[in-house]
Amino acid sequence: MARTYNRGAGDLFPPRMGFRPVARQHSGVLRALSDTPLSPEELSQLDKNHLWHPYSGMPAAAEPLTVTDAQGVRLRTRSERYGQRELIDGMSSWWAAIHGYRHPDLDEAVRRQLDHVGHVMFGGLTHEPAVRLAASLVEITPDPLRHVFPADSGSVAIEVAVKMCLQYWRGRGRTGKRRLLTWRGGYHGDTWHPMSVCDPEGGMHHLWRGALPEQLFAAAPPAGFDAEVERDYLEHFEELLRRHHEELAAVVVEPIVQGAGGMRFHSPEYPRALRELADRYEVLLVFDEIATGFGRTGELFAADHSGVAPDVMCVGKALTGGYLSMAATLCTTRVAEGIARGSVPVLAHGPTFMGNPLAAAVACASLRALLEKDWRTEIGAIESGLRNGLSPVRELPGVRDVRVLGAIGVVQLDHEVDTTAASRAAVEHGVWLRPFRDLIYTMPPYVIGPEDLATVTEAVRAAAAAG
Ligand SMILES: *Cc1c(COP(=O)(O)O)cnc(C)c1O
Repeated sequence: MARTYNRGAGDLFPPRMGFRPVARQHSGVLRALSDTPLSPEELSQLDKNHLWHPYSGMPAAAEPLTVTDAQGVRLRTRSERYGQRELIDGMSSWWAAIHGYRHPDLDEAVRRQLDHVGHVMFGGLTHEPAVRLAASLVEITPDPLRHVFPADSGSVAIEVAVKMCLQYWRGRGRTGKRRLLTWRGGYHGDTWHPMSVCDPEGGMHHLWRGALPEQLFAAAPPAGFDAEVERDYLEHFEELLRRHHEELAAVVVEPIVQGAGGMRFHSPEYPRALRELADRYEVLLVFDEIATGFGRTGELFAADHSGVAPDVMCVGKALTGGYLSMAATLCTTRVAEGIARGSVPVLAHGPTFMGNPLAAAVACASLRALLEKDWRTEIGAIESGLRNGLSPVRELPGVRDVRVLGAIGVVQLDHEVDTTAASRAAVEHGVWLRPFRDLIYTMPPYVIGPEDLATVTEAVRAAAAAG
């Protein structure tokens, strides 16, 4: 009897003439796994039937574009609506592809590593790519950060950071210090503990009431990178620490730029003040630099704007230049020693794919590509391109704010974006954007040239007008 791969590949690809499956009942799977390209219709039908996309229903409301190739800042796409289109990637694949696609050095790093070993467990074993990467990260991140835990993704890096902080206090005999304090408007990932420090509205905490750990929230930091620091705000933040420090393990925030929580910028004074307050109230300070790391805000790390170092710092996204999933959690020697003093003196985490050699090798190549060039000037040029290109957007009806920092450009509307209309307008202008909530934003690959950047800002304008 046929196995029930029904409604799967088997239904779409009945056995064909000349195709002899090894195991007949799996013929659809073997067809799906064969070298024969899927027709566009087959591909979109299978995608629709079986694949979840980020924050989507099943089936998804809109047909995704199929990416067939990518090169430099361009994605080659195919879809029923637009046919074949080359689109400039205005998103850097969610902050990650800082060098664009198919960068020769990054491609080569993966190939070269494949000639040695693609993956090997990290328990009891080590390898050169991971060691080189850790040493480089320690070198370029704020000074007292000395120890690196390679994680599979940004969310996992945050989970590890939380474990580090809880274990640190446990090691110090302060077992009551288990909660986290953050400010509203944040985003820290989609697994359980990171979700608990995401903005309660943006993170839909009402969906998870009673299930999600209840953390402490300060108001969102006052907006504006250049804005005067608001003493009242700091007083409010301090009040929460004063009242709750006995139960608080850490303050967890994104410094300078809150990304997916609302693309808001704040003054470097706030992370600086948080450093002082955390020390005064004996709470650890965690910086989530998963979005902001590796030059995006105009400094190598957002913390560099403030000139302070956290106790624990997470990096991810651009770490591998967008090639493979890898993140990292760094901590100071003080934190590592605190963990070592606990009744369980080891950091209680060890993912299967920890330190993956391919990811580590391409991360090293990405770091080298970044540090070898004058990234500061390059990002400065993008910043002025974004400012020039986006400032007229301020005049459009329905636009509440336009803001730019480093290689990040944001248009905020005074209403929810019609994301379908906005994305379409961008595609019509040859640009890939992904607006959300009331935001149309871009953070292009650093290698984008002035002409392509002008096309991107034009597309943002068109998307703002349409959305
Ligand atoms: C994307 C992001 C995360 C989560 O990273 P994933 O790799 O998607 O798990 C966490 N924090 C910030 C600031 C992010 O932008």
